Amino acid sequence: MVKANENYRKIQASYLFTEIAHRVSAHQAANPDAKIIRLGIGDVTEPLAPAVVEAMHRAVDDEASRDKFHGYGPEQGYAFLREKAAEFDFASRGISIAADEIFISDGAKCDCGNIQELFAQDVAIAVGDPVYPVYVDTNVMAGRTGANDGGRYAGLEYLTCDASNGFVPSPDVLKDAARKPDLVYLCYPNNPTGAVATKEQLQAWVDWARREKSIILFDAAYEAFIRTPGIPHSIYECQGARECAIEFRSYSKTAGFTGVRCGYTVVPKGLVAYAADGSAVELRPMWTRRQTTKFNGASYITQRGAEAVYSPEGAAQTKATIDFYLENAKLVKEALKSLGYVVTGGDDSPYLWVDVKGDSWEFFDRLLKGANVVTTPGAGFGRAGEGYIRISAFNSRANVLEAIERFKKAIG
Ligand code: PLP
Repeated sequence: MVKANENYRKIQASYLFTEIAHRVSAHQAANPDAKIIRLGIGDVTEPLAPAVVEAMHRAVDDEASRDKFHGYGPEQGYAFLREKAAEFDFASRGISIAADEIFISDGAKCDCGNIQELFAQDVAIAVGDPVYPVYVDTNVMAGRTGANDGGRYAGLEYLTCDASNGFVPSPDVLKDAARKPDLVYLCYPNNPTGAVATKEQLQAWVDWARREKSIILFDAAYEAFIRTPGIPHSIYECQGARECAIEFRSYSKTAGFTGVRCGYTVVPKGLVAYAADGSAVELRPMWTRRQTTKFNGASYITQRGAEAVYSPEGAAQTKATIDFYLENAKLVKEALKSLGYVVTGGDDSPYLWVDVKGDSWEFFDRLLKGANVVTTPGAGFGRAGEGYIRISAFNSRANVLEAIERFKKAIG
């Protein structure tokens, strides 16, 4: 008899997207002619930028030639991509991140999920509520929590993100925490709320982490949607963040790579955790070791595609696509506000977080049945998500305009 990992049994089945799919298919079966518009799932809808496609085609040709063929790549990722990321994502903003502090991967989800392996079993962890579930579930799988009770796991510190704090918690709330968190997951622009953190708010977290010798795991997957001047694109815009933060980046929403798969993680030199004997242990060599042992890199073709995101044409084309999604978000936000709803997000994010002043699943059903529009009930992202729905701006303009007309009839 092989014993199974008991921790998996603690994971509260993620009913969210299964339950949504179930309700949508039941509604479609009962109403075969209904033209359902999906503003629920966070996948992009627009094709890759032409500059990216051309670069990938050239890379395929390389792979077809004896002289230019690439097999296993360098373990951290190709220098051509790491150097572009260091230059355009960091140096251009006055941030000092070297190419050898950047680790290319097949996306931020894996890295956000795998990073916890670098830390001891008994580290204390804080997450936002509502939250991108990967931060929570990967620590549950690793055995760092107790059982789930009423939607929260024993042993995790939940930082409530609600209207009272503008959906950005302050480290001050940890003054009364049962245990000081060693790791804090922060995600800005946020999934699901669409909220962004100001420089002062992030600096407060960095100052707290340095004081407490804690580490911030900063997810910047939606950084490319930031348009408001002064909002940090990277945690490393804050003074001292190199000493206390790891950052995750993704080309998924930046450049439509949800299917192509590429992202990267920044682990600065000098960032340390502590061994049982109190000596400092550098995390960058540990992450190198972890990745070289368990990961064989994103493909050459993919990395050439990602490199093209930084070319003048690629940058302009990907920015135009994000502007298009942001215009969708603006149209929906204005329409909902004019119907009397309080809406967060959408200005620097593809997500709108709508206060529905009631049960989130009931509101989901009202929109599904009354407007044939699929959204995501906030309760699926955590206890503090109850009372909200998430609307995504990833869709065609025609669908967005049609959804707005239907909202006016169904919830106006
Ligand atoms: N982080 C956040 C907050 C996300 O919302 C997502 C995807 O939806 C990811 C990470 C995963 O990105 P990737 O496609 O690079 O794995």
